[in-house]
Amino acid sequence: MAKKELELYIHIPFCMKKCNYCDFLSFTADEDTQRRYIEALNREIAFYGKHCKDYVLSTVYIGGGTPSWLGEEEIAAVMETVYAAFSVKEDAEVSLECNPGTVTARKLSVYRQSGINRLSIGLQSTDNRELKMLGRVHTFEQFLKTYELAREAGFANINVDLMNSLPGQTTDSFLATLQKVCRLRPEHVSAYSLIIEKGTPFYDLYKFDAVKQAAGMQTDALPTEEEVCAMTKMTERVLAEHGYVHYEVSNFALPGYACRHNIGYWKRAEYLGVGLGAASLLSNIRYTNTGELYAYLEGSACLRPGLWENPKEDGQTEELPAVNLHVSVERIDRRGQMEEFMFLGLRMMDGISRQEFEECFGVPIEAVYQETMAHLQEEGLLIKRAGRIYLSERGQEVSNYALAQFLS
Ligand code: SF4
Repeated sequence: MAKKELELYIHIPFCMKKCNYCDFLSFTADEDTQRRYIEALNREIAFYGKHCKDYVLSTVYIGGGTPSWLGEEEIAAVMETVYAAFSVKEDAEVSLECNPGTVTARKLSVYRQSGINRLSIGLQSTDNRELKMLGRVHTFEQFLKTYELAREAGFANINVDLMNSLPGQTTDSFLATLQKVCRLRPEHVSAYSLIIEKGTPFYDLYKFDAVKQAAGMQTDALPTEEEVCAMTKMTERVLAEHGYVHYEVSNFALPGYACRHNIGYWKRAEYLGVGLGAASLLSNIRYTNTGELYAYLEGSACLRPGLWENPKEDGQTEELPAVNLHVSVERIDRRGQMEEFMFLGLRMMDGISRQEFEECFGVPIEAVYQETMAHLQEEGLLIKRAGRIYLSERGQEVSNYALAQFLS
C-alpha cells in the first residue's frame, strides 16, 4: 500500500535575544539547556518514527526561534534522527530558518550535507535604523554576507522574510527594502505587516497607539490603515515587476518555488509538529505539545502513548490517542474541517476548488456556504470562476474580515 504523505515541523525555541515585537515561543538559553533540548527533541522524533510507519515525509521544516543559532552538529544530529526514524521522499523540501549573523560557511555546508535544501532568512528590513528599532541582532550588511555564503554553499532555494508597517517607516524606505532584496533574486519572499502583540516590548511602547488604531483612530508612530494598504499594494506591484508570483496573502515566489510546506498547512495536509509548543494535525485530530520547557524535557525522557478525554458539544466525552507531552487534543468535527478548508484555502490566491470541497465532504459547497458566499460576492470580496472560488483584490485587502465570515 502506498504510504501517506506527512509534513514534519521541528521547533527550536532559542534566540540570541528577543526582538521587540516577537510573541513567538522563543527565548535565550545556555548551552547546557540547548544540548538537553536537542536530546529531548531527538527522542521525540525517534518515538514518532516508530508510530508513523504508514507515512512518508514530503517536507521538513526546522523553525523557531533561530535554529541557526545552535551549533551545526546539533542540527546535523536532528536531521540524522529524522532520516533514521522516517521514510523521506527523495524530492522532499527540507527548510531551515536562519538569522543573519548566526551562520558561517561551515554551518551552511553541514546543513547541505544534512539534507537541508531550502533556507529561510529573517531579514525584515534593509534599513539598519529600522532593524535596530525592531531589536534585531543583525545589520543589512550581515544579511548580505549570510546570503552570499548561502549561495556559495549551494543553496538554490532561499526565502527572505520582510516586514512592513513598522513604527516610523515610510513607503519610500520600504520601497528601498523591496528593491534591494529583488536585486538579489531570492527564490521566495515573505512580506508581513507588523502586528503589535500584547506581552511584547512594542506593546508597552505603542500600546496607546495600538488601542487607538483598534478604535480606528490615527496615531503618530504607527502607519495609518491607508499607509499599510499602500505598502501592501506596493509590495505586490514591485515583486510582480520582478517576476514573483503572489500565491498567498503574504507570500511571493519565482515560478516553481512556492513553499510546499506552508501550502500543506493551507490545504490541510497532515502534519506532525515536534518540540516545545508544536502542533500536529493527524487524522483530523489537533495535538499541541506543552510550551513549558522543563515539562517538555522531563516528558520526553519517558514518552508514552495514552488516552485523552475530549469533551464534545453534546456534553459527552470521547477518548482520543495522545502522548504525555500533549496539553491539548481535539478532534476537528466535520463542520470545523469545512471551516478550515475555507478559511485556510482562501488565503491562497487561486483559492479553493469546488470539486475538492465536494470530494472531501460529499456535498456541494453551495449546500453549506451559499449565503456566506453570496454576501461576500455582493460586497465585491469574493469571485467564483472556472470551478474555483477566491478572494478579489478588495477581499485580500480585508482578508481578516472576509475569511472570518466562514467561521461559526
Ligand atoms: S529572531 Fe524571530 S523568533 Fe527570535 S526573537 Fe526575533 S522574531 Fe522572535
